[in-house]
This record gives sequence, C-alpha cells and structure tokens, in this order.
Amino acid sequence: MVRAAAALSAALFVASAGAQPPGDPDGRAAALVAQMTQDEKLRLVFGYFSTDFNGVARPKEGINYTAGFIHGIERLMIPPQHQTDAGIGVATQPSPAPRGRTALPSGLATAATWNRKLAFEAGAMIGKEARLSGHNVMLGGSVNLMREPRNGRNFEYGGEDPLLAGLITGEQIRGIQSNGIVSTIKHFAFNDQETNRTTVDVQIEDAAGRMSDLLALQIATEVGDPGSVMCSYNLVNGVYACESDYLLNRVLKRDWGYKGYVMSDWGAVHSTIPAALAGLDQQSGWPFDASPYFGPALREAVENGHVPAKRLDDMVQRILRAMIANGLLDNPVPVVEPHKIDFAAHALVSRRGAEEGIVLLTNGNGVLPLTGGIKRIAVIGGHADVGVLSGGGAGQVHPVGGSPVKGEGPQGFPGPIIYFPSSPLKALAARTKAEVVYHDGKDVAAAAKLAASSDIAIVFGTQWTAESFDVPSLALPDGQARLIDAVAAANGRTVVVLETGGPVTMPWVGKAAAVLAAWYPGSAGGEAIARVLTGEVDAAGRLPATFPVSEDQLPRPKIDGDPASKTGRFKTDYNIEGAAVGYKWFEKTGKKPLFAFGHGLSYTTFAFDGMTARAAGKGDVAVTFGVKNTGTRAGYAVPQVYAAAKPAAGWEAPRRLAGWDKLLLQPGERRDVTVTVPARMLAVYSTRAGAWKVAPGDYTFTLATASDAPVATSTVKVGAATIPVALQRAAR
Ligand code: BGC
Repeated sequence: MVRAAAALSAALFVASAGAQPPGDPDGRAAALVAQMTQDEKLRLVFGYFSTDFNGVARPKEGINYTAGFIHGIERLMIPPQHQTDAGIGVATQPSPAPRGRTALPSGLATAATWNRKLAFEAGAMIGKEARLSGHNVMLGGSVNLMREPRNGRNFEYGGEDPLLAGLITGEQIRGIQSNGIVSTIKHFAFNDQETNRTTVDVQIEDAAGRMSDLLALQIATEVGDPGSVMCSYNLVNGVYACESDYLLNRVLKRDWGYKGYVMSDWGAVHSTIPAALAGLDQQSGWPFDASPYFGPALREAVENGHVPAKRLDDMVQRILRAMIANGLLDNPVPVVEPHKIDFAAHALVSRRGAEEGIVLLTNGNGVLPLTGGIKRIAVIGGHADVGVLSGGGAGQVHPVGGSPVKGEGPQGFPGPIIYFPSSPLKALAARTKAEVVYHDGKDVAAAAKLAASSDIAIVFGTQWTAESFDVPSLALPDGQARLIDAVAAANGRTVVVLETGGPVTMPWVGKAAAVLAAWYPGSAGGEAIARVLTGEVDAAGRLPATFPVSEDQLPRPKIDGDPASKTGRFKTDYNIEGAAVGYKWFEKTGKKPLFAFGHGLSYTTFAFDGMTARAAGKGDVAVTFGVKNTGTRAGYAVPQVYAAAKPAAGWEAPRRLAGWDKLLLQPGERRDVTVTVPARMLAVYSTRAGAWKVAPGDYTFTLATASDAPVATSTVKVGAATIPVALQRAAR
C-alpha cells in the first residue's frame, strides 16, 4: 500500500513538475528547496544507522541491519534514503541472519581485469541487487589509492595507479547508477591506512595530492558522475577530512565543480559549524559520532547565523539534485523485492570478473594449464574443499545459504571470516578426469606426503584482510610459507593459488612451479579459479599493484601509528613519495620489485608491430600499433602505454601509465589498436595556476606488456597546454 502510494505520488510529481523539465535536476531541486520548511531541510541532512547501535535504536522505517537511513518528506514526494554498503555487493551489518547476496570479486580483482566494460557490468549487477533489496543509495565505488600495500581495505579499492583505479571504479559507479540509484564514491581522501584511521594526520602537498589520490577520485567522478561523495575518517594537513575546507569546498566543489553532496563516513564528523562551513552536506550514521552534530546543533547554528541559511539550502539542493538526477524521485525504489534477484545470472557476472582478474604470476615449464594426462591432483589448504575467502568489514557481503566455514577470525566486527561456497576442489573435479584429493594443510608433513603421491599439488595460500586493521606483514600468515616449502619440496609441480587482499611477499616463489593471484574471487570464485587452472579460459588479469620483494622497499617500511592506541595522534608523511605511488616509487628509486605493476602471463603469446605515437589534437597523443596472437590458443592481450617527459619538471616519477587496451585474440588473429592519451596524463598540476600544465618538449611513449616489460617506444614533440582543473566529462 505504502509502496503503491509512493509510486503514484512520484508519477504525479513528474506530471505536475511541468515548468521544470525532468532533465533539469538543478531546477527541480531548487524548486523543491523553495517549498521546504526549515524542519524538512534539516531532516535531509541528518543520517541514522539502520541497525541498533550504541544504545540507539534504528528508525523503524529503515531496512534492518543496513548502513544508513535518511527520512524522506512525503508531502513533497521525496523518498527516504536507504543506504547500503558497498562496492562488492549488498552487504549486511553484523546480524544474526545476514541477507545472502552476490559478491563480486574484490575491487582490486576488478581492477586486475583492466576491463572497463566488465567493471560497468559488475556495477550494474550489484546496483540491481541493491535496488531489489530496497536500497536507493549504494556506498561504493571505492577508490582509495594503494599507497600502503598493508592497508586492510585494499581489497575494496582499485590499486595503485590513478588512471587504472579511476577508470575502473568510475565504470563501476556508472554501472551502479544505471539502476536508478545513487552511488557514493569514497573515501575522500587520503584514507590509505586503517591503523589509527580516525587520528592519523596525513601530510601531503597540494600538487602531489591532486596527481595521486585525488586524481583517482577525479577520474572516477568524471566517468561515473556519482551522486555523492563520502568524506573519510583521517585528518589531512591537520584538519579532519569531513571538515576540510580545502578538500570539500575547494578541491571538490569549487575546483572540480562537483554538484552532488558530501556525506560523512560513519563516525567521521567532529563538529557542527566547522563541518557545515567546510562543505559537509549530510551527517551519516550519527550514533557513530560523539554527538548528533547535524541535528539540534545545526538547527541552532542556522538560527543564530553561525551557519548561513543559504548554506543549509545548498546542502539540501545538492542532496535533492543527486536524488533527482539518478531517478530516485521519478522511479522510486520499491521497498524490497529480493525474490526477483537472479542469483544464477549474477553469479556468472561475478565469475567473469573473477576469471578475467586472476593474474598468472609465474608458470614454470608451462605447468599450467593442467593437461589431460594428470591422474591425481592434491588440493591443499585455504578451505579449498568448500569455498573461497572474502575480505571483512562494513562491506562484507554474505553468501546465500551462509559461509561454509564457521568460527574463524574475530567473532565481532570486522569478523567473522566469511567464505563463499564455491569450492575450487569441486570445480576442478568437475573439469578433469583426475582424482582430486583434499588436505587442509594443518599437518605439514601429511600434506607434503599427499603432494608426493600426486601428479600435481595445488596449495591455496590465504591472507584475510579487513576494515579496521592493517596486516602486520605482507608475508602469508600462520606458517603458510612452511607449508608451501614442504609441498614444493615434495612435488616439483606445485602450483600456488593466492587468495589475498593485495600484494604479498613470497620468499618461496622460486620453489613453486606456478603462482596465481586470485584475490578474493567472489561468489563464483571456485569455478573461476578452476576454469583458469584448466585453461578453459585464458589467464587474463594483470597486476593493478606492485608486489614488493619486502617491506623495506616501501616508502614506509613500517606503518606509522600504533594499532594499540585508540587516541594517539600522529602524522604520516605522504610527501616522502608524493605522487610517486606504487610502481612510480619503485622506478623513481631504482628498486626492483618481485612482480611489477601491469605484469601477468597469458597461456598464449603475442607479437606487436608498427608502434607509433602522434599528436592527435587538443594536446592528446594517439599511440597506434598492431597486436597479434602468435600462439595456438585464444588469449587476452593487455598492451599498456607508459609516458615519460623530457624535460620531466614536476613529474612525480620517470613514467606514468597513460592508457591501455584489452583484447581477446584468436590464434593467428591480428588487430590494429589505438590508445589515446589525454593531454592531462602528460601534465603536472600547478598549484599557482590552479590548472594542469603540459610543458612543451619531447614525450616518449613506451608500449609494454608490464611496467617493467617494454616492447617499443616512440617520441613525439608536444606543445605547451593548459587543462582546466574542473571535472572533464570527456573522460567518459
Ligand atoms: C566504512 C564505510 C562504510 C560505512 C557504513 C564505515 O565503517 O568506512 O566505508 O560505508 O562504515 O557502513
């Protein structure tokens, strides 16, 4: 009944809107603001947690065990906001009966596909599940740049390169919003470690920030046009992100011209007047904060003029604009219709993403794909008999039917550890004629014995990561190195399949015949892994982040802060590496990683020809070349283009990823490729000019199969250019 009434009201609203065409979200939002009372305006800027918490009961109208709820205004046919996490699927907050939904592979795995179309489809699928679950705001895509490979949330994000992370996350956002719901890009900004995330004060200069973390957020915003932005927990240059005039008013709203709204992370608000004046538009999940800052205190601040009434209007205008632009008023989300979720179809979307994101790191003697002659396969560890690992925290998606592994990890947030019931063992057994035998790996000697009596051993190496803590070390935990050593010593044909949140160190790498990075592969991860191992599909992923040999190679060999302290304030100096994040740091400091950014093997081979770079107008450069599959099976090529400048004044590092393509080629097939490098990828941000500046000079473009594997180069003279700081919609 309520649902029908809401739909009817919305239809009436559209019909009566008359003067404002539906395509004018600014005008329509302004007309609504003009009709609203002060009480109504204040309602829209104040967020509840939609789960009982901290002695505060959730609003009854919200969807239980979800992230957020904002009251609507029935009189004006403005629906409530039902907010759900997050970037990998529809999550459930800690609950006795979590809702089962489809999980994508981790955000990092999606970045490892280097496939924009897949990222869009992935976003469209989880956005659809959000809509069918009654949500009209989804709290992803997530695009914190990977400055810190130990960050417990790297699995949610898009890796270390601003162009790759920005384009992939932007597509995901576009996909989510294609369902007529709002997507929230997060976390704004520089929230790159979980250790002391609410007290860490990140030091970063303007230009370095705009050329790194902010560039990833900017590109994703350009591509995805998210309705909202979530400001983060940390401080930046001495100021909380959610009350940073620099981040919110200047960078996001003034310089970029962003028209959506800023919501806080849950527990990231520390004031009323400073936050309101700095550009925060909506307090989220208020029981996480020390006080309902955007409740009675904001009313008082507006009444006594400390927060101008116009500023409150601006908050509401931005919220309504995002809701209107994304169809929340014209095509309201029904309360809940989970029975309409096609889990089988959605598992296929997830599987495709997982298999295209799996990176074959090494493949000694072509041990993979598995051949027909194998009689016995030992599958060892990682609960590979029953499922695949996922990352923990607010974004935790729960499998339909529950996790096949129970009782592991912390029992409270961000645990427990959840596995998706997609068994690599069963998927392998279904695809080979071999006998597939499992051992849990706890008794190392017994596991090695099984390996010795098998034709091939596959060890599943896992590393659980989650929101709220960073991993203390990049080594696989719980003595897994010892297990791999022992199995590899027993059987020279040992394959290691990694299910990790991000890069790990591998002192054992030379002993394994092959290593695959499968990340957290999502709802159909077991099938995806088996399909890659057996060669049913090519190994198609490429690394979205550098794998270091050891932590000593990182800008911060030890993470700043103290995990034991809740209140300790300290600074972390991102100016050490500035914008030289990941491979840029490695190249700038002449360090050789274990596996370079962009690396990943295919089961086939490729040849490249005719590489040339030429000016393509407006300061852009077109790089053209041919790529041919020279092997005997179909496979994915991911030709990458890196740019270098001469003079390199202001460049953060010797080279930047400037573009790429991904192609599926049949044996013998050759195709011409053009990668267009937008002028901004050759520019340096000038704080003085408030714009991007391309210096005139020679720019060298390298065609490569990984950041450390050049194929050909071509140099072009490029003239001076200025690119405005505003969002460039052309990035779409
Ligand atoms: C996380 C956000 C999330 C929010 C709501 C916070 O702990 O940092 O990413 O969207 O909770 O659940």
